[in-house]
Amino acid sequence: MKLSDEIRAQLVEAAQEARRWAYAPYSNYAVGAALLTSSGKVYDGANVENAAYPTTMCAERVAVFKAVSEGERDFAAIAVVTANGGTPCGSCRQVLAEFGVETVVIIADISGRVVMESRVAELLPGAFLPSDLARE
Ligand SMILES: [Zn+2]
Repeated sequence: MKLSDEIRAQLVEAAQEARRWAYAPYSNYAVGAALLTSSGKVYDGANVENAAYPTTMCAERVAVFKAVSEGERDFAAIAVVTANGGTPCGSCRQVLAEFGVETVVIIADISGRVVMESRVAELLPGAFLPSDLARE
């Protein structure tokens, strides 16, 4: 999907806003995400860390799980905002791939400057997909 400049800017802004709610006392690496569904809704997310480190959840997955738990499964794009324009981790790439490798991924820094725009297919080549579980 080709994103308009307006939609892109709105998503980045929503991710910047969501970043405020990051709970990141251990890494001090706040992340905000905003996921645009094909139906036009936006679900945001922030990373939520835990004293038991592996229990931590990324902003991207918070946004995806919020959307899916409300019945959304078709996504157009996700914007991710960090201080330095960091990209989604492998687990988030895999979770995004589950719902479509064509989802646009917009990476922006704290100022809202887009540092990268890609698709899940490019971020996770050879992803393990639902079709890989297809039964005969
Ligand atoms: Zn992640």
